Amino acid sequence: MKQVLCEQVGFSCDYVIDGETDEDVMRKAIEHIWEYHAIKPEEMTSDMKAKIKEKIQTL
Ligand SMILES: [Zn+2]
Repeated sequence: MKQVLCEQVGFSCDYVIDGETDEDVMRKAIEHIWEYHAIKPEEMTSDMKAKIKEKIQTL
């Protein structure tokens, strides 16, 4: 299983995003950030996406 903590991406939020694959975590992270932090997927910078990818851990 893979996971990333929302706070590692830079939000003060204790949400844990998990999934089977990096792509899965990335997709859910984008959804979460949209729903909870009001950043639309198309407004997300490539820096932010790179940060999410970098912080994904394998459990
Ligand atoms: Zn969050």
